Amino acid sequence: KNSIHYRPTHANVNLDAIRSNIRNLKEYLGSRTSVIAVVKADGYGHGEVEIASVAFEAGANMVSVATPDEAVRLRMAGIVGDILVMGPSPISFAKKAVELGITITVADGQWLQSVLTDIDADDFEKQLKIHIKIDSGMGRIGLRDVESLQALVLIIESSEKVLLDGIFTHFACADEEDSCRTEEQFTTFMELVQTLPEKPRLVHASNSAATLLYPEYALDAVRFGMSLYGITPSEYVRKKLPFRLKRSLSLESELAYVKLLEAGNRISYGGTYETTESEWIGSIPIGYADGLRRGLRGQEVLIDGKRMPLVGTICMDQCMVKLPREFLVGEKVVLIGRQGEEEIKMEEWAECLSTIPYEIAVSITKRVPRIYT
Ligand code: PLP
Repeated sequence: KNSIHYRPTHANVNLDAIRSNIRNLKEYLGSRTSVIAVVKADGYGHGEVEIASVAFEAGANMVSVATPDEAVRLRMAGIVGDILVMGPSPISFAKKAVELGITITVADGQWLQSVLTDIDADDFEKQLKIHIKIDSGMGRIGLRDVESLQALVLIIESSEKVLLDGIFTHFACADEEDSCRTEEQFTTFMELVQTLPEKPRLVHASNSAATLLYPEYALDAVRFGMSLYGITPSEYVRKKLPFRLKRSLSLESELAYVKLLEAGNRISYGGTYETTESEWIGSIPIGYADGLRRGLRGQEVLIDGKRMPLVGTICMDQCMVKLPREFLVGEKVVLIGRQGEEEIKMEEWAECLSTIPYEIAVSITKRVPRIYT
């Protein structure tokens, strides 16, 4: 399945790590709680179809994405299990959702009313499966009060074409040490859920952080995203991990060119790095068009099991590393991952760029082939 690539830069995606994370999660949750594997944004950069397939194989009960197009792509690629679109969908997507058996999120009665008018005209035999989204404190899409929830329920009950399969909310601060806001959100959510005339099949609230920190909020299902890929949402969650997570992705390349530069030579755009002595400089075929952001200048990479710094401005397709001695072209370079005793984690890049590992995972671009092992 892995095709041939001539540039030796690739992201290795270890599918066994995904399997192991799902199995450990299932064991931790017990049989009462379903696993929804979050594979939006191309499986957090790991590959949506590959991750969705492996997740189902390892026992996930459903996968979820953010957009209707992501869901359609998964179905077209042959994923047959349940798919939930967690974000908003346009009215025009509802028919396609029915046709492909995709579950969509509803957060507005008027919206559903318009969808029903649309579907009724087509006389579909299959039902539209929906999950209601409650905004319990995130301030994003979702219903906030009993009145609008009850109005939505009336619309659902008025039609045989809609199946209410679930209701959910999303936590804003579950990865933080202070649990106050998460507790408040959970209470708000459960108060609204309790006003439903009948409990739907899946009531769910937890993302990775809440799953790992608050087993009591697991309910019928959890939506496991970042930690499915072996990464914790925050340092605080990492310290409190109830089971081991395995990282799936590593980013690797090779030295493509090695030269010795005497003191006083400048490197890369702007000439901002100048050799101060005789220095061995390697070129690595990866740049900001691959997701190695310019802000990562100075970040270390691993060669021969040791850390070495990127010097000079990172170019679109290449970057330069200062080597402690001569190395041969073809020497392996690890940009994210482990080599010998050393490891460079996405969190280290995230810190360097003042962001979170989520943003790092999704910013490794399409140009970098994903190699599945
Ligand atoms: N649920 C919703 C609605 C989300 O938007 C996300 C992602 O941000 C998740 C679940 C998964 O979150 P995490 O990756 O922190 O597990």
